[in-house]
Amino acid sequence: MDTKKKYCRDSRSPIPKNEQTSKTMSAIKAKNTKPELLLRKALWHSGIKGYRLHWKKVPGRPDIAFPGKKIAIFVNGCYWHRCPICNLSLPKSNVEFWTNKFNRNIERDKIKTEALEELGWTVLTIWECEIKKELDMQVERIKKLL
Ligand SMILES: [Zn+2]
Repeated sequence: MDTKKKYCRDSRSPIPKNEQTSKTMSAIKAKNTKPELLLRKALWHSGIKGYRLHWKKVPGRPDIAFPGKKIAIFVNGCYWHRCPICNLSLPKSNVEFWTNKFNRNIERDKIKTEALEELGWTVLTIWECEIKKELDMQVERIKKLL
């Protein structure tokens, strides 16, 4: 199978190898993602405990929740949640499908945050890339809230 074939659709952008797209997609899991595990490990090492994981008693099932302090932390994958820092490009095929899908993710994130804030929670969203780049700083951000 020749996946290296390159051609231009409208003389602007070459279509990327599907290989890469599917690689990106399969590397992403919904729960217990690698950045989330990294963050939890770092919290543990800083002596931060008493949080719940994927707590079902509040809207949006925050990845990490401190119920006593009403603090919810979401660890967002840059790709699926469309990280504003990374600003990753969209797949070049089925653009409409992916745009809709990503927009729904963004909308869902917004609804979750608003629902929690209405209940008096503080919501912190930490992006995958922030964890990869500056894990310690993310722990500090959480510490400050606690
Ligand atoms: Zn990012």
